[in-house]
Amino acid sequence: MVHLLGSEHVAMRQGAPLSSHLYRDVGVVLRTYKLGEADRIIVLLTAENGKVRAVAKGVRKTTSKFGARLEPLSHVRLLLYRGRELDIVSQAESVEPMAPLLATLDRASQGMAVLEAADQLGLEREPNPQLYRMLVGALRTIADRPAPLVVPAFYWKLLAAEGLRPELDACVRCGGTEPDVALVAFDLGEGGVLCRACRSGTAITPGALLLLRDILDGRLNEALATAESPVTHEVGVLATRALEHHIERRLRAVAMFERH
Ligand SMILES: [Zn+2]
Repeated sequence: MVHLLGSEHVAMRQGAPLSSHLYRDVGVVLRTYKLGEADRIIVLLTAENGKVRAVAKGVRKTTSKFGARLEPLSHVRLLLYRGRELDIVSQAESVEPMAPLLATLDRASQGMAVLEAADQLGLEREPNPQLYRMLVGALRTIADRPAPLVVPAFYWKLLAAEGLRPELDACVRCGGTEPDVALVAFDLGEGGVLCRACRSGTAITPGALLLLRDILDGRLNEALATAESPVTHEVGVLATRALEHHIERRLRAVAMFERH
C-alpha cells in the first residue's frame, strides 16, 4: 500500500533532510472538494500543522497513486509541499484502516459528526495536537465500540479543551450545591447548572447531570457504557446546542473584530 517514488523515497525516511518546502505530518481527512478535471482539494486536521488545505493532483483518476486513501475519515501519513495558499500532497500512506467506520450508516454518520466538529474548531496552520489526538481517539472508539455517547462526549471534551468546561456542581448564580439545593437547569450563556430558584435556560434531569459529570470528571468509560435512553439523548441534544452556541459566539466575535 506504500507508494514511494524515486527521490521521494529518500525524503520520506525518518531523519532524511527535506527541502525547505517539504514537510511530513500525519492527519485525518475532514472533507474534500473537486478542483478542475482530475484534482481534489483535501482538508486535513494534522498533528503538527493544524488544519491544512492541500491539492491532491490526479486523485480522481482511476490510476491515481493515492487510491482511496484521501477520502473523509482516512487517517494518513503525508509528505506535503508547502504552497502559499494551498499545499500539495506529494505522498499519502494509510496509518490505519478506518473502513469499519463505514460498515454501518450509524457509524459513518457519527464519524462525520466528529469530523465536522473538528473542522469547526481547527484553525488553519495553527497547531493543535490535542484536537488531533481527541479526533483520532473518537474515530477509533466509533470504529471499535460505538456507543450513544461517543459523539456527545467528544463535543463536551472539545468545549472543555477550549476552556469552556461547564460548571456542574454548583448553581452558577447563587453558588448553591447539592443537597442544599436541587440543580435543575442548564444555561449555555451562563456556562453551567442552576438551582430551582435561579433557573434559566433549559431543564436538565438528574440522570443527564450525572452523565455529564461522568464525561467531564474522568469517568468517560462509564459514560460510554451507558445504553441508549432518553437521558443519553438529552445529553446529546445539550452537547450539540453547546457546541453550536460556542461556534456562533466565536463567529460573532470575528464579525465584531472586523467592524472595528
Ligand atoms: Zn441558584
